[in-house]
Amino acid sequence: MTSAAKIRSFHPPQRILMGPGPSDMHPRVQNALGQPVIGHLDPAFVGMMEELKDLLRYAFQTKNALTFPVSGPGSVGMETCFVNLVEPGDKVIVCRNGVFGGRMIENVERCGGVAVVVEDAWGAPVDPNKLEDALRAHPDAKVVAFVQAETSTGALSDARTLAGIARQRGALTIVDAVTSLGGSKLQVDAWGIDAVYSGSQKCLSCTPGLSPVTFSERAVERVKARKKKCQSWFMDLSLVLEYWNAPGGKRTYHHTAPINALYGLHESLVLLREEGIENAWTRHRHHHLALKAGLEAMGLAFLVREDARLPQLNAVFVPEGIDEAAVRMRLLNDFNLEIGAGLGPLAGKIWRFGLMGHSCKIENVMLCLSALGSALADLGHPVDLGHGEAAAHDVYASHHAADASARKRMELKRA
Ligand SMILES: *Cc1c(COP(=O)(O)O)cnc(C)c1O
Repeated sequence: MTSAAKIRSFHPPQRILMGPGPSDMHPRVQNALGQPVIGHLDPAFVGMMEELKDLLRYAFQTKNALTFPVSGPGSVGMETCFVNLVEPGDKVIVCRNGVFGGRMIENVERCGGVAVVVEDAWGAPVDPNKLEDALRAHPDAKVVAFVQAETSTGALSDARTLAGIARQRGALTIVDAVTSLGGSKLQVDAWGIDAVYSGSQKCLSCTPGLSPVTFSERAVERVKARKKKCQSWFMDLSLVLEYWNAPGGKRTYHHTAPINALYGLHESLVLLREEGIENAWTRHRHHHLALKAGLEAMGLAFLVREDARLPQLNAVFVPEGIDEAAVRMRLLNDFNLEIGAGLGPLAGKIWRFGLMGHSCKIENVMLCLSALGSALADLGHPVDLGHGEAAAHDVYASHHAADASARKRMELKRA
């Protein structure tokens, strides 16, 4: 007998997810995931797929026909963009200001492309002037790639300006919106972006393993004009489309879709639609301001300068002399609260507090500040217990006051 005989059903602990993703799932999404499996060519399923594409167009703010969820995590969405849009020998300008820009370079090179790297410091947004300079020095660049929301640092780059510069110089854009979709303003059509990939488990608060993507007409033309077949069979858009975008609805088998995960994504997008995407952006910003006030009242400093901070990913420096891993373990063990550590050069130096999707709410902000104060005090760091919560409270109170006066103005207008 092997030890496998002793294994019983797995029951995960109940956690509160305030790290860099995954985020907490809404109960309605969890319920959707548990619905019965049906065939991936079942007419009922096909109807759901059509709705899913429309809901994704709403989330991306686009009319792009080629909009669907790739079966795979954000990394597969990333790779789908690169393997289809980069041919051997193509020059690609990649803006790197953290982990994920680095992965883009890796993708370009594995496609046989030539990466021209525009570097910015970890924690800084991408500098549009550097992109201009790079495009001037490399007018033959076919693609510009950058990360809108760098989850490794919490920096938000100006996707609209960067995409505008690329378009002016005739380059296609590939944008990583894994952490931004549903949390920060993103307008694919208005900003003229050509290829975008995202993820299901960050601000969409669905199960991990799906990557919504969208491609402009220009991007589709580029794929059709390829001289060489895409090196990936699984990610080749011309083949995947026979399933997701078949003409006349005559879908054929490509791979078995992750049926239940897609039910979940459909429900999380219905939730986004019900809330309204602008309201979702505002909610992320409001709770970020409360968390920020609380963290700063506890003496913690942000990594990213104020005008480039992501509301959904708050990176702060670990105070001198504190064992950052011990704090995270305490939060997890005593409060069931998960936060993120630093990556690469920021390992051991920062904590990353996520406020993504369904995790982005007042009870999480308050619990987080309270738990962090408690953990820091236990580990001997001088911290004024309760100051963080009080500062966050003040921010919420001022939002409530602003909301009440806005309501009054509306009522007066109507009267
Ligand atoms: C999480 C993340 C990814 C990768 O997504 P996975 O689902 O983990 O593969 C890519 N880019 C950014 C900015 C991310 O935050």
